Amino acid sequence: MTSQAGSGAIPGDVVVPDELSNNVFITNIAKLLDPVYNWSRRNSVWPMVFGLACCAIEMICTASSRYDLARFGMEVFRATPRQSDLMIVSGTVTKKMVPTIVRLYNQMPEPRYVLSMGACASGGGPFKEGYNVVDGIDKFIPVDVYVPGCPPTPQALINGLIALQEKIDQQSIATVPWYRKNDPTAEMVPVPVLGPDLVDLRQVDIIKAEAAKAAEAKAAAEAQAAEQAAEPAS
Ligand code: SF4
Repeated sequence: MTSQAGSGAIPGDVVVPDELSNNVFITNIAKLLDPVYNWSRRNSVWPMVFGLACCAIEMICTASSRYDLARFGMEVFRATPRQSDLMIVSGTVTKKMVPTIVRLYNQMPEPRYVLSMGACASGGGPFKEGYNVVDGIDKFIPVDVYVPGCPPTPQALINGLIALQEKIDQQSIATVPWYRKNDPTAEMVPVPVLGPDLVDLRQVDIIKAEAAKAAEAKAAAEAQAAEQAAEPAS
């Protein structure tokens, strides 16, 4: 594209009239805004001060001067979910902690992200079969990035943070859930109830159906046993 007054025009070039040559024309708002919107968010992701077990020690190391998280704009760990963009679930997720984790997640404003750090947070790790451990925090809250390892090194966590930045780069202001009404992904997660076991309130219908099925099977077995007991011995 050359201006009318420009001398270096080549054949086939679109000639811009002189009166328009000092203007900027925007043909797609989202394409123009997305890089600025994402650049500003990707370079100021503030993690929450929040750790659960041994993986948290590696997360704390990552925040030391040696690894210089300030390069990514992530050195400001916040002591409140209301000022945090990122929850790093670092450590073993026990059933006792799940209601608290979900409550903290709900208290974070959008846009918010979750990074699952280590084998325990992602799938239960060495405690997967434990009576008091859940096999993955993603059963309760949506996870954006998984970092493998037991524990992951600071370098692995930084790699996960870079992966999160790459994910943010792919988002568009036109489609992100927090600006859309009635988007189920932006809704609050019901806080699970901790009693004799952990109850996810989103599973109540399934739990009721399974309990009814079990009660029916038990009643049928009892009736059969009673019939057999009533039969005269031959
Ligand atoms: S993944 Fe390994 S290091 Fe991390 S909390 Fe579990 S047992 Fe500890």
